[in-house]
Amino acid sequence: MPTLSSQALKAVTHLIARRMGSDDKEAEQVADHLVRANLAGHDSHGVGMLPTYVRLLKDGLLVPNQTAATILDAGALLVIDARRGYGQRMAADAVGRAIARAKQMGACVLALRNSAHIGRIGTYAEQAAAAGCVFTAFVNVADHHDVQATWGAAEPRLGTNPFCAGVPGADGPALLLDMATTTIAGGKARVAYNKGVPVPDGCLIDADGNPTNDPTGFIRDHTGALRSFGMHKGSGLAVMCEVMAAAVAGGQGAFHEAKGGVVNSMLATVIDLSKLGDPAAIAADIQAVKAHVKSAKPAPGFDDVLVPGEPERNYAAKRMAQGIEVDATTWRDIRAAAGSLGVTAAEFDQAAGSNAA
Ligand code: NAD
Repeated sequence: MPTLSSQALKAVTHLIARRMGSDDKEAEQVADHLVRANLAGHDSHGVGMLPTYVRLLKDGLLVPNQTAATILDAGALLVIDARRGYGQRMAADAVGRAIARAKQMGACVLALRNSAHIGRIGTYAEQAAAAGCVFTAFVNVADHHDVQATWGAAEPRLGTNPFCAGVPGADGPALLLDMATTTIAGGKARVAYNKGVPVPDGCLIDADGNPTNDPTGFIRDHTGALRSFGMHKGSGLAVMCEVMAAAVAGGQGAFHEAKGGVVNSMLATVIDLSKLGDPAAIAADIQAVKAHVKSAKPAPGFDDVLVPGEPERNYAAKRMAQGIEVDATTWRDIRAAAGSLGVTAAEFDQAAGSNAA
C-alpha cells in the first residue's frame, strides 16, 4: 500500500487532470480538492475518484473547462447551470460568486444545477468559512443508478444526497457537519470493496432487502442498496436534499433518466456572519456551544466527545505528518486510468515521486 505526501498525490492528480484536458487552473482546483479530501480522511472523495472521472470524460459525461451558464442573477439569488462541468471547479466558482454576493448583500442563496461530481461538500463550507461566512447545502446525486434505500424501502430510489453546514472559526470552520444521508458514503463501500473488508453493520442491504456487510454485490453488480442513516429522520433529510436540489434548485433528479454519470446539484445558502452582529461575540458563542457539548463525560467505549469537523481536523494533522496511504487496488486503478490517457509509467512515477512503487 503506497504512502504518499500530499504534494506527491497532488502532482499525480494535476498530471491526470491536465491530460483529461483541464487547463492549469482547473487541474490545480481538482488536485487541491481531491487531496484535501484524502487529508480529511475521506478517501471515498479523494484521488480514488480519478478513475471514475476518466470514465465520465470518455463517456462525454464530464466536461473539462466548461463555462457555467448563469440562469438567474437576482441579487441575493443566483441560479447557475454547470452543464456537466468539472465539479470541483464549477462548485468552487459558484460558491465564490455566492460569497461575493453575500459580502454585498448579507446573504446569498445559490442554486447550482447539473455539475459533474462536486466531491467533498465540506470543501465549500471551508471556502465560505475562510471568507467569514456561514454555509449550508442540500445536495443530490443523479444520473447514476439509485443507491439509497429510504426508510421502509427494500430497494434504492435516491443517491447518497449529502447535507452540509459549517460556521467560520479562527482557522477554518469552527464546526463543520458534512455527511452523506446514507449510513456511509457510496465511495466508502467502494474503498471497503477495494480493500476486501466488510462494511459496518446496518449500512447495506442485499438484493432481497436483507442486511449484509459484504459490499461485493453493491459495488460489482449494482445490486442492493445503502440504507439511509437515522431511520425515518435521515431518510427524510435525504428526500429533502433531493427536492431542494432537483426541484427547488432545478437540477437533474433521481427521477430523471440516468446516463451513467454522476451529476450533483445543490441549494446552498451563504451568510456573511459579520452582518449579523459583532463577529467576536458570535465567535465566542460558537466556541461556547462547542465547549459545552464537549464537556460531557464520554460514553463507555468513547475516549472523547467530538463535534462535527473534529475527526477531519485530527485526520488532516496526522496525514500531513505521516503521509496518505492509498490502497493497492485504488493505486492500480489510478495508474491504469492515467495510462488510458497516454500518461507513461515514467511520467506517472516522476509525478508521484520515489515512494510511488
Ligand atoms: P462521515 O460519516 O465520516 O462524517 C459525517 C459527519 O460526522 C462529519 O461532519 C464528521 O465530522 C462527523 N463525525 C464523524 N465522526 C464523529 C464523531 N465521532 N463525533 C462527532 N462527529 C463526528 O462522512 P460521510 O457521511 O461518510 O461523508 C463523507 C464525505 O462524502 C463527505 O465529505 C460528503 O460531502 C461526501 N459526499 C459527497 C457526495 C457527492 O455526491 N458529491 C455524496 C455523498 C457524500
